[in-house]
Amino acid sequence: MFFKDKVLNEEDLKLKIGFFHLSSCSGCQVAFLDMFEKIVEFLDTVELVYSNMLTRKREIPFLDVAFVEGALCVEENYHLRLIKEINEKSKLIVSVGACASFGGVRRLSCGNQMPQPQHNSFIPLTEIELIKNKLKYAIPGCPPNPSLLENFLLALLELDYDFLQPFEFIASSNDASGFNLISEVVNKGFCVGCGTCETACPTRAISFSQSCGKPNFTPSTCVHCGSCLAACPQSFKPYPQPTY
Ligand code: SF4
Ligand code: SF4
Ligand code: SF4
Repeated sequence: MFFKDKVLNEEDLKLKIGFFHLSSCSGCQVAFLDMFEKIVEFLDTVELVYSNMLTRKREIPFLDVAFVEGALCVEENYHLRLIKEINEKSKLIVSVGACASFGGVRRLSCGNQMPQPQHNSFIPLTEIELIKNKLKYAIPGCPPNPSLLENFLLALLELDYDFLQPFEFIASSNDASGFNLISEVVNKGFCVGCGTCETACPTRAISFSQSCGKPNFTPSTCVHCGSCLAACPQSFKPYPQPTY
């Protein structure tokens, strides 16, 4: 999509990207910056035109791709203005990380803990009607692995739709957590016992049981990052799931 447009406009061949910050810890943007050790390879094709950490620009320029971390806080006028401007000035929006994609820790409460402070104030980008037509991809993780971000950007540049397809699917989901892994993969009999979910989990909420060949899940330590579900080879498949 992008390079086809760009080739028609030979004056400007670089893909213009920006990175935006909503309610978040900035960990996703730091992961994005970690990727920049390898981004040297992209410098001929990508230009970072906006980042609250890396560029001095106060005005948001027109962009090809806006990467956004964090959930939108409905009580924060700045967030409402920012998301409108991102929508007006970008061709494509990508939500980066659990806060932007599912609400993540911004919506987390567990056990009998009361939501605080006002968890309902935080809305993931995937639930914002205004940007529905532009938000095509959601990247899971808390934060996403820098190499995943690198491969995502590469796939976007090369229009590798096979690689991008799961991220498109995730953008249409409103949750991805260990609960979903258990209910959608394990309990439905799709788990093949590969153990990938255990290695993907940053909080050890998943532990692989050698005796039964399936993952165990500890809900109290799950931060709803979606990494296990995204890493599982039996989920988000672009073809019908096998039945056993
Ligand atoms: S997804 Fe995790 S790392 Fe990213 S902004 Fe939210 S809390 Fe921070
Ligand atoms: S179980 Fe682990 S990897 Fe899966 S969503 Fe929860 S914290 Fe993330
Ligand atoms: S990654 Fe998926 S298939 Fe592999 S053990 Fe975990 S749930 Fe099962």
